[in-house]
Amino acid sequence: MNPNDLQPTTPWHLAERAEAMNPSAIREILKVTERPGILNFAGGLPSPETFPVDAMRDACATVLGKDSAIAKPSLQYASSEGLPELRQWVADEMGKHGATVSPEQVLITTGSQQGLDLIAKVLLDKGCRLLVESPTYLGALQAFTPMQPRIESVASDDEGVLPEALRAQLEDMKEPARFMYLLPNFQNPTGRTMLEARREAVLAVCRERGLPIVEDNPYGELWFDQPPPKPLLARWPEGVIYLGSFSKILAPGLRLGYVIAPPALYSKLLQAKQAADLHTPGFNQRVVVEVIKDGFLDQHVPTIRARYHAQRDAMLAALARELGPTGAEWTRPVGGMFVWVRLPEGLNAQALLPKAVDAGMAFVPGAPFYASEPDARTLRLSFVTSTPAQIDQGMAALGKVVRATLMR
Ligand code: PMP
Repeated sequence: MNPNDLQPTTPWHLAERAEAMNPSAIREILKVTERPGILNFAGGLPSPETFPVDAMRDACATVLGKDSAIAKPSLQYASSEGLPELRQWVADEMGKHGATVSPEQVLITTGSQQGLDLIAKVLLDKGCRLLVESPTYLGALQAFTPMQPRIESVASDDEGVLPEALRAQLEDMKEPARFMYLLPNFQNPTGRTMLEARREAVLAVCRERGLPIVEDNPYGELWFDQPPPKPLLARWPEGVIYLGSFSKILAPGLRLGYVIAPPALYSKLLQAKQAADLHTPGFNQRVVVEVIKDGFLDQHVPTIRARYHAQRDAMLAALARELGPTGAEWTRPVGGMFVWVRLPEGLNAQALLPKAVDAGMAFVPGAPFYASEPDARTLRLSFVTSTPAQIDQGMAALGKVVRATLMR
């Protein structure tokens, strides 16, 4: 119930930006899918099997050890920018990906989701233009929407935004857009990746038209056969804000992410961060520094890649078997956690969901991931929290429901 509808019986009056907020469609859907016994492909969670519990325990013991000099500092208030060692690690890591980043440009955030929220506060005004992929990450739409921008989707294919469509859209625009939000690697929700030529073509348009980019990359390390092309940040340092995260390579419960911003924007993001939460938990930052300092991720991340790779293979094989003959289409992700399915003509993913749940499996309908003109035939499947046997079983259930619906 909207308190503004209750006037004058309530003394509260919602801000316009609060009226613009809406519940995450996914969380609402997940309630339906959380029935016991359901094979759940709807969530966006990493596999808990990948969480390095032993390394975390050892690091906590080190930080809180009896004579530890870092115990009390890690429990004290800390700097808003983040722990220097962690900022340095991020800068070094980006160097390995071809981007020259100074630690002063790194802002440690409470998950990269907070980075999206800070960017929205610092860069968006009511009525301003903002460009996104079609479809795009729902959590970003949630972060941007309260600022009441006019969100425009750019036509996209299985490599992301189409440079020519972008060019035409920019020509049409009387006022420039504040930025374009892009997910070049193993995108949530589609699993697609921008290849080298597409990155260059899109960047050429952005550079030419002075359209800055927010590059969100929580999945980039989760590649299967080969690393993705170098980040957009490495190609246009002054025109890109970059978001990274520890959620998919260590654990999301740590709530650790980071924003890399050009110096001109950094101080504004920092001020927004101070207002939001003063700083990201120093204890979590210190523990993560302890975990990663001796190259732990070099051993750990390949185990995640191998696990997800096998699950992706199982998912693609099961989809070919179960949905191949129905006329459905799906993406073939080369990393990440998701496959995006387009059901055969005449089917609607939202309408199909209750039947799928009755048959024992759940997915997320694709419509909420579109800022405009949703494709009601689409749905997202996560392959990382199910075993290959569960994937087989779940896709068999989906195939059965799709075939039964087509026959009607
Ligand atoms: N961006 C994308 C594309 C995501 O999929 C997610 C997590 N679902 C996030 C940002 C936020 O991740 P976190 O806050 O855990 O770093």
